[in-house]
Amino acid sequence: MDPFEHQDYQPESPRARTASMNVLSQLLMVFGVAALLATMFTAWTPLGLVPSNLAAQLVEIFWGAGGQSDSGLPQPTPRPRPLIGILAGHSGGADPGAVCPDGLTEVSINLDVATRVKEKLTASGFDVDLLEEFDARLDGYQAMLLVAVHADSCAYIDDNASGFKVAAATNIEDSRATRLSACLSDRYGRVTGLRYHIGSVSAHMTGYHVFGRIDLLTAAAIIEVGFMNLDRQILTQQPDLLAEGIAQGVLCYIYNEDASGGG
Ligand SMILES: [Zn+2]
Repeated sequence: MDPFEHQDYQPESPRARTASMNVLSQLLMVFGVAALLATMFTAWTPLGLVPSNLAAQLVEIFWGAGGQSDSGLPQPTPRPRPLIGILAGHSGGADPGAVCPDGLTEVSINLDVATRVKEKLTASGFDVDLLEEFDARLDGYQAMLLVAVHADSCAYIDDNASGFKVAAATNIEDSRATRLSACLSDRYGRVTGLRYHIGSVSAHMTGYHVFGRIDLLTAAAIIEVGFMNLDRQILTQQPDLLAEGIAQGVLCYIYNEDASGGG
């Protein structure tokens, strides 16, 4: 929130009124002196030798060029917009992640969804970096938060292998990454209708290599957006819905919204 936008109107205090009256009387005195000098010069010298802008010059000498009102007030400095990192899993490398028998790759899903998340958060007024799996920028990466987007195996495991899961980075000691994770779980589940796939968060997720590279203060989480086998339809047909779920999860975290429904 910009503190300048929400300042209540304050009636002019007696002290401020006295100060402005002092300024006014000084101004009148300057003009008076200037007028007097101008008159004297005009009276004593032939017309035309007196600079016509003498009064203005005198005012300038007393008050400085341009006057006080334009240059004297402090201007609010524009603050940098909060930065968000969205990582498209397996992008930028040779490993496409999971691959289906017909050639559908995990990286294509991740990149599609991550790009849409970036667009949505940019539209919400944030600066967003779209990061690759082994992005050089990840070393000591400083941002308000980072979300890595992956998808689960295309192999048929069982009829239960459906849904999403989220894991918080363990690089950070406070609870921010856990809250980011809860926000993502809650909003992603609500928006997409996918259920949280309980009990399958692996060491692959919690020990995600990216978490060990970024700055300790960057809250981070990884989301597996669905299984490429049983959830194939929503992953390929509704990438915008998946992106909306992630974007809403990010905004839930940023605006400290309730995420008690998160898994
Ligand atoms: Zn992956």
